[in-house]
Amino acid sequence: MGITLKDLSDRYAVCNGKKFYLKDFEPDDTWKFKSKEHADELLEHGLKRLSEMQGRLYAQNEWALLLIFQAMDAAGKDGTIKHVMSGVNPQGCEVFSFKAPSAEELNHDFLWRSMKNLPERGRIGIFNRSYYEETLVVRVHKEFLEKQKLPPKLVTKNIWKERFEDISAFERYLEHNGIIVRKFFLNVSKEEQKNRFLKRLEEPKKNWKFSAADIRERQAWPKYMEAYEETIRHTASEQAPWYVVPADHKWFTRLVVASVIVETLDSLKLKFPEVSPAFRKEFAAARVALEKEK
Ligand code: ATP
Ligand code: MG
Repeated sequence: MGITLKDLSDRYAVCNGKKFYLKDFEPDDTWKFKSKEHADELLEHGLKRLSEMQGRLYAQNEWALLLIFQAMDAAGKDGTIKHVMSGVNPQGCEVFSFKAPSAEELNHDFLWRSMKNLPERGRIGIFNRSYYEETLVVRVHKEFLEKQKLPPKLVTKNIWKERFEDISAFERYLEHNGIIVRKFFLNVSKEEQKNRFLKRLEEPKKNWKFSAADIRERQAWPKYMEAYEETIRHTASEQAPWYVVPADHKWFTRLVVASVIVETLDSLKLKFPEVSPAFRKEFAAARVALEKEK
C-alpha cells in the first residue's frame, strides 16, 4: 500500500490553525486501512522504532518530548497511552494525569502545576489532560473560572484570547529550551462515545470506568466541540502542532499517535553520545582490570 508513518503523521497535523474546521476531520476515518490487521504491521514497525529512538533520546540527554492528550471522555486517551508507550523504557517516560485543580493549585497561576511536571532532558513526558483544560472545561463551565480567584478586573471578555496567547508563548518558551511539544486531540464521535458508555454499563470489567458526571458532560457536547475548534485554531503552530486523530477505531488512533511520535523523534536526528579519544583510552585500562579479576 506504501503508506509511511510520515504520511500518517502529516495527514492529521494542524500546524496553522487559521483555516481549521473540525468538520474537515472525520472521527471514523481510517484512511486506506481496512482493518486492525491491516494496520498492525505498520504499528509494530513504528513501536520498534519508537523504542530504539527513545534509547537515543535518553542517552543523548539534550532534548525532551512533551506529549499532550486531550479528548472527550471515552475517546481512548488511557488505552492509547498504554499501547503506544508499551515498548519504551519506563525510566525515560513519565505520565501525569491532570484532574480538577486542588486548593493549592488554585492558589497559583494556571501554568504552575504543568511547569512542575515538565519532562527532564532525555525524557518523554505525557500529559493526560493538560493546561488546555483551561480553554476547554473552564470555558464550558464558567464556575471553574470563578474558583480561580483571579482579581475581577482581570476577568474580561478577552480572557480566552489571553489564555491562547499565554499558552502559545509558553510553548515557544519550551521549544527554545529543547522541549518539543506535540498535542493530540483524540476525535471521537458522539455516537461512538455512547456505544462506549453503554459498554461500561454492560461489561463487569468496565463498570469501574463508568461515571455519571461523564454522562452529564455529554449534554454539553456542542459547546465542547466549539471550545476545541477555537483552541486548536489559536494554538496550532509549526513548532507545537495539534494532531486531530480519528478516535472511533482504537487501532487506528494508536497507529496515528505512534506515527507522530516516531516522526517527531526522527526529526531530531538523535545520536548516541560520541566517546572522546581520551575516554576511549580508559577503555583499555578498564578491560585489563576486568580481565585480571579472578
Ligand atoms: P479522565 O476523564 O481523564 O479519563 P478520570 O476519569 O480518571 O480521568 P476525572 O475525575 O474525570 O478523572 O478527572 C478529570 C476531570 O478533571 C475532567 O472532568 C477534567 O475536565 C477536569 N479538569 C482537568 N483540569 C481541569 C482544570 N484546569 N479546571 C477544571 N477542571 C479540570
Ligand atoms: Mg473522567
